[in-house]
Amino acid sequence: MSGIRILVAGASIAGPALAHWLRRRGAEVTVVERAPGLRPGGQAVDARGVTKEVIRRMGLDAPVRAACTDTAGAHTVDADGNVLETFSVEDHGGDGYIADIEILRGDLSQVLYDDTRDGVEYIFGDRIAELAQDADGVDVVLAGGDRRRFDLVVGADGLHSALRGMVFGPRERFVRHLGLVLAFYSVPNEFGLDRWLLEFQDQESGRSASLRPIQDATRAMAMFSFPAADFDVDYRDIEAQKRLLREQADGLGWLTPRLLAHLDDTPDFYLDQVAQVVMDGWSNGRVGLIGDAAFSSSPMSGQGTGLALIGAYLLAGELAAADWDPKAGFTGYERRMRSFVEANQEIGRWHVDSLGVPQPGAEPHEEPDMEALTDLVERAINGVELPDYAGVPDSGASVRS
Ligand SMILES: Cc1cc2nc3c(=O)[nH]c(=O)nc-3n(C[C@H](O)[C@H](O)[C@H](O)COP(=O)(O)OP(=O)(O)OC[C@H]3O[C@@H](n4cnc5c(N)ncnc54)[C@H](O)[C@@H]3O)c2cc1C
Repeated sequence: MSGIRILVAGASIAGPALAHWLRRRGAEVTVVERAPGLRPGGQAVDARGVTKEVIRRMGLDAPVRAACTDTAGAHTVDADGNVLETFSVEDHGGDGYIADIEILRGDLSQVLYDDTRDGVEYIFGDRIAELAQDADGVDVVLAGGDRRRFDLVVGADGLHSALRGMVFGPRERFVRHLGLVLAFYSVPNEFGLDRWLLEFQDQESGRSASLRPIQDATRAMAMFSFPAADFDVDYRDIEAQKRLLREQADGLGWLTPRLLAHLDDTPDFYLDQVAQVVMDGWSNGRVGLIGDAAFSSSPMSGQGTGLALIGAYLLAGELAAADWDPKAGFTGYERRMRSFVEANQEIGRWHVDSLGVPQPGAEPHEEPDMEALTDLVERAINGVELPDYAGVPDSGASVRS
C-alpha cells in the first residue's frame, strides 16, 4: 500500500477502469456515483487496436468477450428494408466498423464493477458537493453529508461533468456540440433480427434509425439520430427527451413507427447531444479529469470507451511512476494521451460531417482524401504507446480478493 487515497467521481467506464489500475498500483480508492446503482443501458461500444491490449492487461479479456454482443456485421437498408451495403465483423482484422469486441456499454460497466467492487469502496447515490484543495490534499464534502480528505480527486463523471464545472469552469467553455442528437433504447425483438445490425439513413433529412442485436435475443436495441443545431432539453428530463425524439423521428419511415411504439415501456432510454470536450489541460493541482469529462470524442468516433480505458491505464501508471506527485503524474498522462485524443476527435467530426449534418462553425463538407483518412483511422486506433511501467508496483491481474 502506498497510503495514497484517491477519490474518483463516476462509476460508468472511466471510473471503474481507473479504480482497477489505481488499486493495482497500490492506492486506496473510493468511487462516488450519483446514480443509485450502476447505470444500465447505452448502445454497443467497440474495442479496437490498443484498447484490446489494455483489456488484456486488465485480465478482463475473457469476461469482456463472454459479454460481447456476437454481432456478425451491419447491413445498410433502404426504406423498404432492401440491403444496400454490408460490413462484416471480419473486415479490417476485427477493427472495422463493427469490431470483433463489441459490448453493450452497460454490460462493460458491469464487468468493470464486478472486477473492482471487492477492492474498492463504491458509494452510490451521492456526489461531491464541495471541494477545497491545498498543497497536501483535497477536502471533500459529499452531498450526503460525509466529509473526507483525499490525496487526489479524479472526475470520471462524463460529458456533463460536475467536477469539471466546479474546478475548471462552466461547460460552455469546453463542450462543443456537433449538431446531432442520438437516442438509444431496447425494444422487444419482434423484428426477427438475428446477428446483423440494420441501419436506415434518410440522406435528405440527415436522420437515421437502426436496430441492433444484443446478447438477449428476445430484445434488440433501437437507435435514432437527427440533426439539432440547438439542443436545449434537460439531459436529466427523460420524458422531455422522449417527446423530442417522437417529434424529430416523425415521418422517418422504415421501422420507425414500430420502434417508437415501445418508447413508453423501455427500461433503458438514453438520449444526448453528440458533443466533444476540448480542454487545454486535464488537471488543476490535485484534481484531474478522465474519459468523457476530459476529452469526449463523441459516440460518432466509436472510440469514447477506448479513450476511457486507455486513459485509465496511463493515468494510474504515470501517477504511480511519479510516486504520486500530481504535477508530474498528470503531466505525463496528458503528454501520452493528447495527440491520440485529437485524432479520435477528428474522426468524430469527420463522421458527423459525412452524414451531411451541418456543424456549427465548420467548413462545408468536402469529399475526404482517402489516404489521409486511412492514416487518421490508424492513428485513432493505434496511435498511442502503452509503457509497461516495469518497476512500478503492480499487485496482479484483478483487484477482487
Ligand atoms: C447511461 C449511459 C449510456 C451511454 N450510452 C452510450 C452509447 O450508447 N454509445 C456511446 O458511444 N456512448 C454512450 N455513453 C457514453 C460512454 O459511456 C462514454 O462515451 C465512454 O464510455 C466514456 O465513459 P465515461 O466513464 O468517461 O463517461 P460516462 O459513461 O458518461 O459516465 C459518467 C458517469 O458519471 C456519473 N456521474 C455524473 N455526474 C456525476 C456526479 N456529479 N458525481 C458522481 N457521478 C456522476 C454518471 O451517472 C455516469 O455513471 C453512455 C453513458 C451513459 C452514462
